Amino acid sequence: MKLGDIYRTAVAKGVREDVRSDAEIQHMLAEAKHTYEKLDAEEQPYFDKERLTNPYSDTRICLGDPDLEVRGLITGIDMEVGEVLLADRLREKGAPIDLILAHHPEGPGYANLHEVMYMQADLWAAQGVGIAAADALIAPRAEEIRRHIMPVNHYRAIDAARELGFASMSCHTPADNSVNAFVLRHLESEAPRTLDDLVKSLRHIPEYADGARKGYGPIIVQGSGSGRCGRIVLDMTGGTEGPKEALDRLSAAGVGTLVGMHYSEEHRKHAEKLKLNLVIAGHISSDTLGMNLVLDEIEPQGVEIRCVSGMVRVRRDA
Ligand SMILES: [Zn+2]
Repeated sequence: MKLGDIYRTAVAKGVREDVRSDAEIQHMLAEAKHTYEKLDAEEQPYFDKERLTNPYSDTRICLGDPDLEVRGLITGIDMEVGEVLLADRLREKGAPIDLILAHHPEGPGYANLHEVMYMQADLWAAQGVGIAAADALIAPRAEEIRRHIMPVNHYRAIDAARELGFASMSCHTPADNSVNAFVLRHLESEAPRTLDDLVKSLRHIPEYADGARKGYGPIIVQGSGSGRCGRIVLDMTGGTEGPKEALDRLSAAGVGTLVGMHYSEEHRKHAEKLKLNLVIAGHISSDTLGMNLVLDEIEPQGVEIRCVSGMVRVRRDA
């Protein structure tokens, strides 16, 4: 499978599982086009043209010709310099590895991670939060994340991949959209009554069962196990943790339980005040599930997949 096809397959999967409507996504791409066309010649080289066709700023080919034929890839949640060196050792031993596929973005995807956060407003709006309040809440938080990421050495692992002759790609929000949609469908079908039931229901998914056996299974961090879930909302996509004020709005809109990958202590305390239940499904296990759902569309095209850095491959029929 060509590198460009792997990339386009991942983006298309993300769009199919996106909480936003197709019309909203098309509007976003059209806005990017408009922005690009308005730039003067001096500014245009600095515009990331992938924005014209890909709504996910955290998903990019970081390195490599899109026409490169990928026989095999190595993937993991974090693919840092250590994993790049590991890939090189495995290749020395004969493993066909042409591509390093990271979940947490590297390079351009990392530098622009904050841009995907704006989709959180649409997630909240779908739960009954006014879109004006949602837009106003997410903007300062996304800008805060942008300033936080700015000083990072974004290209270290990509520079290592270049020196060792690998292609490199990040796939973040398409995987997070996939896990968000998959777990929502799962919980809708199992309809857990209490938070204890919810934790058990999550463990029916192999990636969470594996996490539970390894010591990082689904856990209630706010609320009592015998308490009822009420309306469950999945909170697993949109770049990274949003502002804690969003919890007030969701609670006021009638949400009973949020299921996320991780919550800060500040969020947990805020949820406690609001009497809003919080369940952590697990960070690495959720990321793994999302990546597996994307890889289910890539592996059948003849790409050999090796997993490291927290990933355990579980296959599902497409
Ligand atoms: Zn993650």
